[in-house]
Amino acid sequence: MYDVIVIGAGSVGSSTARELSKYKLKTLVLERGHDICSGASKANTGMIHAGYDPLPGTNEAKFNAPGNRLMYKLCDELDVPYQKSGTTIFATDDSGMEELRKLKRFAVENNVEAEIIPYPDLLEKQPDMGSEVKAILWVPEGGVTNPFSVTFALAENAYVNGVEFRLDSEVTGIDRADRMDSGQRSAFPDGANFVVHTKDDAIACRMIVNCAGLYSDVINNMVSDEEFKIIPRFGAHVILDRKLSSKLTTTLMETPHDLPGGGHTKGMAIAPSVGGTMLLGCDATEVKDPDTTEWTMPSVQQIIDYFKKAWPILPLAKECPEFPEDQIIAVFGGCRPHADTNDFVIGEPDDAPGFVNAGGTESPAFASSPAIGEYVAHICIDRLAAEKKDDFNPYRKGKKIFRTMTDDEKQQAISEDPDYARIVCRCEMVTEAEIRDAIRRPLGARSVAGVKLRTRAGMGRCQGGFCSPRVVEILCEELGLNPLEVTQCGGNSQILAAPACSLKAEKEA
Ligand SMILES: Cc1cc2nc3c(=O)[nH]c(=O)nc-3n(C[C@H](O)[C@H](O)[C@H](O)COP(=O)(O)OP(=O)(O)OC[C@H]3O[C@@H](n4cnc5c(N)ncnc54)[C@H](O)[C@@H]3O)c2cc1C
Repeated sequence: MYDVIVIGAGSVGSSTARELSKYKLKTLVLERGHDICSGASKANTGMIHAGYDPLPGTNEAKFNAPGNRLMYKLCDELDVPYQKSGTTIFATDDSGMEELRKLKRFAVENNVEAEIIPYPDLLEKQPDMGSEVKAILWVPEGGVTNPFSVTFALAENAYVNGVEFRLDSEVTGIDRADRMDSGQRSAFPDGANFVVHTKDDAIACRMIVNCAGLYSDVINNMVSDEEFKIIPRFGAHVILDRKLSSKLTTTLMETPHDLPGGGHTKGMAIAPSVGGTMLLGCDATEVKDPDTTEWTMPSVQQIIDYFKKAWPILPLAKECPEFPEDQIIAVFGGCRPHADTNDFVIGEPDDAPGFVNAGGTESPAFASSPAIGEYVAHICIDRLAAEKKDDFNPYRKGKKIFRTMTDDEKQQAISEDPDYARIVCRCEMVTEAEIRDAIRRPLGARSVAGVKLRTRAGMGRCQGGFCSPRVVEILCEELGLNPLEVTQCGGNSQILAAPACSLKAEKEA
C-alpha cells in the first residue's frame, strides 16, 4: 500500500512528488502518457511569470509569486538553465495604459515588484523601443526556462529520492473506503482510504493528490460531489530561429487584449527561450478535446499578423526592420486546463478527506508549480505526520550542453567522452553523448520525442529531417529495441512501417 498516489507527472505532479520525496513516505506517481511531461507542461512558453497579473485574493495570486521565487531556486538545485531577464509589458493606447495601471495595482497587492515607466524614460530599460509605446510595466522578477527540462529534472530528483513512477498508467477509477459497505471495505488493506484503478492494477493508498491537469476535473469528479469542469483553452506558438535571439534581452508583451480572429490573450508575447530560439504567442481559444495539439492556420496567422504589425515598435526592428517570416522554423500548440471556477482548484474538497486537488492549472501554473507542489504535498505530510528523511539529496547534475561550451570545454568534454565528438543533430549541435545520457538517465527517454524534449535533437531548422534516423538507431542500441518498435511518442506512433525489402516484396507480389 502507498501512503500517497500522485496522479499526473506534469510540472505540478513532479513538483509535488519531489516535495513528498523529502519525507519518509511511500509515494507513487501514475502517469497516463508514455513519458513524464505529456500534457500542458510540454506546450507552454516557459515564462516564469512573476505574479503581477493574477486577480488578488485568488489561488493564482496566492501561488504565483512564491512559485516564481522557488522556481529559480529549483533550477539552481537541479542544474536547469534559466534566464531571469524580466518581463516588459507595453501599452500603446489609452486602454493599454488603463491595463498597465491595473496590473501595477495587482502587482502591489500580490507583493510583486513592478514599475510603470513612461516614454521616453523607458528607453533606459529598452533603448530601441518605438515611440508609439506610451509606457511599460517593468517586472524584474520575470524570467524564462525550459518547462520540459524543469519537469524532467523534478521527476528525476523525486525518483532518485525514492518516489516510484508508472508511465502508460491512466487512472480509470477510484474507490473510496468510506463509501463502501462493510463487506466491500474488508477488501481494502488496513489504513487504506482509496483504491486507484488503472487498466492493469488496483492500487491502495492513504491519500491522493490530483495533478491531472486537463483531466483534473475527471479525477475530482470520480471522488467528490463538489464537481468542477475543465474548459480546455488552446494556444499556438510560432518559433523563430536563433539568428536574432541575442537582441532579445527580456520577454516583451503587449497588455491583455481580444484577438481579431476570436479568443483573448493575456498579452501577445515574444519570449527568448533558453535554447536560443524565440517563441511568439499565444492566442487562447476554447476547444472541446483536452488533447488538442493540432494548430490551425487562422490561429497561427493571427500571431504572424500581430507581429508583422507590432514589429516596427519592438526593439528588434532596429536589427531587422521587417518581421522575419523566413525565420519561422516550427509551430506548436496545446491546451491550458482552465477550470469553470476561473481559478486553480487547490486543496481537499469538504466531502473527500484525503483527496487533494491541484487542478484547474491554467497559466500561470507552470510558474506556480513549485509553490503548488509544496502546498499540496504538505497537506499529505501533515496529515500522515511524516518524518523528514536524513538522506534527501536536493541536487541533480545535468549533462553539459555541447552547443554552449567554449572551444576548450569542447576539447575537454571530447577527451572525457568520445561520444561528444559525434554531432547527431546538426541544427542544434546535439552530440551522441547528450542523446545517450538522455536515454540512460533515471526516467530517461524511450521515444524520439523523449530524446527531442530532453536534448533539443530535432528542434532546429530541419525539425529532425536529418537526425531522426540516427536517434532511432541510438534508441535501439541503448534500449535493445528493434527499429520497428521505436515510436515517436509511445502508443501506436511507430516511426517505421516495415523493412524496405519486405515492402518491395509485397509490392511485387
Ligand atoms: C499555449 C500555452 C502557453 C502557456 N504558457 C505558460 C507560461 O508561459 N507560463 C506558465 O506559468 N504557464 C503557462 N501555461 C500553462 C502551463 O502549461 C500549465 O499551467 C502547466 O503546465 C500545468 O501543469 P500540470 O502539471 O498541472 O498539467 P500537465 O502538464 O497537463 O500534467 C498533467 C499530467 O496528468 C496526466 N494525466 C491526465 N489524466 C490522467 C489520468 N487519468 N491518469 C494518469 N495521468 C493522467 C497527463 O498525461 C499529464 O502528463 C501555458 C499553457 C499553454 C497551453
